[in-house]
Amino acid sequence: MQVRITVSFPYEAPVSQSLFDRASAVTPGGVNSPVRAFRAVGGTPRFMVSGTGPYLTDADGREYVDLVCSWGPMILGHSHPEVIAAVQEAVARGTSFGTPGAGEVELAEEIVARIEPVEQVRLVSSGTEATMSAIRLARGFTGRPKVIKFAGCYHGHVDALLAAAGSGVATFGLPDTPGVTGAQAGDTIVLPYNDIEAVRAAFAAHPGEIACVITEASPGNMGVVPPLPGFNQGLKDLCAGNGALYISDEVMTGFRVSKAGWYGIDGVRPDLMTFGKVMGGGFPAAAFGGRADVMAHLAPAGPVYQAGTLSGNPIATAAGVAQLRLLDDAAYEKVDAVSAELRGLVTAALAKEGVAHRLQVAGNMFSVFFTDAEVTDYDGAKAQESFRFTAFFHSMLSQGVYLPPSAFESWFVSTAHDTAAVERIAAALPAAARAAAGATA
Ligand code: PLP
Repeated sequence: MQVRITVSFPYEAPVSQSLFDRASAVTPGGVNSPVRAFRAVGGTPRFMVSGTGPYLTDADGREYVDLVCSWGPMILGHSHPEVIAAVQEAVARGTSFGTPGAGEVELAEEIVARIEPVEQVRLVSSGTEATMSAIRLARGFTGRPKVIKFAGCYHGHVDALLAAAGSGVATFGLPDTPGVTGAQAGDTIVLPYNDIEAVRAAFAAHPGEIACVITEASPGNMGVVPPLPGFNQGLKDLCAGNGALYISDEVMTGFRVSKAGWYGIDGVRPDLMTFGKVMGGGFPAAAFGGRADVMAHLAPAGPVYQAGTLSGNPIATAAGVAQLRLLDDAAYEKVDAVSAELRGLVTAALAKEGVAHRLQVAGNMFSVFFTDAEVTDYDGAKAQESFRFTAFFHSMLSQGVYLPPSAFESWFVSTAHDTAAVERIAAALPAAARAAAGATA
């Protein structure tokens, strides 16, 4: 049963705290994905019990305007009636068969129809699986070992991709976490984002060795740091000129920033692409796909092995198909408009308090950097005054607005963010901007 407590903000969150205490006893750090633990901002993670439209309700009975949207998937808002109906209809027919099913075909057809470079697609259950599999396929297809990735780009917790850069120059991947061996990360070349000359130099230094370049189509995992004009095209050209594959990771941007994701915005044609989040309608569904001649190397058509017990799960595919079919041009116009309105409100509130900040935008994704310099790479992102975000975040939270609990994340909106939701955010912003202005390191 949902517990409702009426207290005025600012507040504690006793029910969430007690759930967190219980969770911490049985789960490392109390969470099943680290950012949920609020370590970057401190305080009690809110345990959510329900979501409707643009709102989440926590275990203490408090309602928040949600600007996380489950880290992207909930682009139609929470509990969209048509998605829920599709799920209910699917679940009544059974939860998993371990055989092919019509829902998988429909979801694959939706993806192929929307994203022109995707000629064939394989469904998996998480973005991590998608990028891991795409890299294996690129290595299998080219017969080459090395992978280029960029500092600040997150592609899930794939061993070979959990390598971060030293500053400035090309760095051979040092494992970024215990548990990843030098062998696993040693074929990963980590370069500074938006530095096409570093990529050119890496290709020159390793002729015939680089299987692929993987990049977020437009990064959202160091905050929103879009590619500089020509950067993605430059990657594509260098890959094509050197016999490597260009992999565009659209797990975050795919089906979110346009019908055809970031590809729909920049038109640079990848060899392989990865998807997740929006395409699952809030369920574990993800995918990788691209050139048919490359995808033909995947088992059982070809020799590169890849599989999954729950891949193409009938409930996940039903939710994904329902969500994608609702995402027409009008839906994207709505999300774009809400995003633009919010950006205007945020920047006006911060400017009024004299807070140095930079709003960076990729389609309808955006984030606020507490710096006045343009952020074009991970070092720039890290140079912001993130202590100001902490104060801003807690003020917004205490006023019923749920932001990503980190200064290095995109904010997400949905078609359900209506005038009432925007007004609530607008009402919370002045105090949050004052909190940011008054914050000290
Ligand atoms: N790629 C990108 C660009 C992502 O943003 C994420 C997750 O945030 C992933 C891959 C990994 O996806 P998942 O968390 O579903 O494994």
